[in-house]
Amino acid sequence: MVIILGLRIKFVSIRWKLVSTYLLLIILTLLLIHTFISESIRINYVNEKKVHLLSQGNIIADRVANHNKNSNDMDALLKGYSKEIKSRIMIVNKKGIVLNDAYDVLKGMKINHWEIQESLKGKSIAREHQLKGYGKTLYVTVPIVLNNKVYGAIFISSSLEKVYGNVNKIMRNYLLLAILCIVITGFISFIFAHVIATPIEKLTEGIKKMHQGKLEQKVEIIGNDELTNLAQAFNTMSTKLFQVDQQRKEFVGNVSHELRTPLSAMKLLSESLIYEENVPIKTYREFLKDIASEVDRLDKIIQSLLALVDIDKGKLELNYEVTYVNYLLEKLIHSLKPIAVQKKISMNFVYSEKIQIGLDRVKIQQALTNIIHNAIKYTPEGGIVEVFLYSENGAAVVEIKDNGIGIPKESLPYIYERFYRVDKARSRSTGGTGLGLSISKQIIELHQGEVEVISEVGKGTTFYVRLPKNMNVYS
Ligand code: ADP
Repeated sequence: MVIILGLRIKFVSIRWKLVSTYLLLIILTLLLIHTFISESIRINYVNEKKVHLLSQGNIIADRVANHNKNSNDMDALLKGYSKEIKSRIMIVNKKGIVLNDAYDVLKGMKINHWEIQESLKGKSIAREHQLKGYGKTLYVTVPIVLNNKVYGAIFISSSLEKVYGNVNKIMRNYLLLAILCIVITGFISFIFAHVIATPIEKLTEGIKKMHQGKLEQKVEIIGNDELTNLAQAFNTMSTKLFQVDQQRKEFVGNVSHELRTPLSAMKLLSESLIYEENVPIKTYREFLKDIASEVDRLDKIIQSLLALVDIDKGKLELNYEVTYVNYLLEKLIHSLKPIAVQKKISMNFVYSEKIQIGLDRVKIQQALTNIIHNAIKYTPEGGIVEVFLYSENGAAVVEIKDNGIGIPKESLPYIYERFYRVDKARSRSTGGTGLGLSISKQIIELHQGEVEVISEVGKGTTFYVRLPKNMNVYS
């Protein structure tokens, strides 16, 4: 049963379907050619023989009609011709009586063949017969005419066995050629089927492995046809899926870690209050304040995560409003000023023109707040944070410049990655989540804008946010 099933699967495979289709086609074609050729050759040979015997019959009839010889001379003449054309020749009179027979057997007997009857009416006839014991035979009859009067007929009987033998010989050679054709076609179609089926099998194998969770699959297919393109598309898809899966795993790991940190801190703080006896009220307050700050942190992480999920889902539909970027920045800087004042950081906002563009006010405010807040966070006490607004190449540019700690060169490519922080401890102490820049970048890109950073450790950092002005209402 298993063997039958195995064979069934094997013979329904594309490989065998292709091979059997090609074989079937070539066999059908060869059969048709066989029928056509064998029939054509047979007809051709027989017709040739008919024409030859009819012309010989005419020559003999002519000589008989004009003879002035006796019966014995006529016998000798017939025997001579009979030998020459390898056929039996008879002369019959008007009544159908055999006057002369080259084989000397039927002399004086009456023969009543249809062909003789027709020739006695003046027609020349050539017709094939299947004779018992003799095989295929050709009967040829020609009238003996003198002065437009029929005196009798010449009857030639000739075996066609040699003709049929020749046709069979040709067809036997054809059969050998046909077998050779079938073997060659089978071989070529097998190679061709192999060339087509192998990439498909490889792709199927790759898909099966991906289905089992092994996402990083590569299918090697040589060539430049549709199957190679399919394999390339498959490889790109599997690489992308693998990367997405890796990012997802990393993201889930990071989220769990980030959420666990404040939770562990809260647990530690609350347990110390529970198990410690006679804790002074001041310590209670202090610990509860710490717990509240950890709750704030948790809330901040969750809010940021929700914002990211929204952006990822493409849910973040921008609510465009024509906005003066100057006023938006003024408001924003005003709200961040208390934090800067606390760190004795001076904040300046400089602009040369009023720029009005269409943007999602709330989202852009969120994006710019993250960047300006970072400038304050990562600038030591007494530092300077400056914000400039100007136009450049059809875009509104917001430049945020600080003279803070700066970002190391090797960290610059990663600062927009989720949860990436140059210095985890410092970021945590300043309330950072590692999600701010990732959110800002995505919001800016949703506005078809871009963000760029230039930084030097110990000297400071400058962020450039470029927003296209094509939503301009007033120039
Ligand atoms: P965080 O919440 O930690 O600030 P962000 O995504 O906003 O996370 O920023 C990622 C990291 O980039 C920060 O942890 C910090 O190390 C670095 N960074 C961002 N802005 C600045 C800046 N103005 N100066 C120095 N480092 C910065």
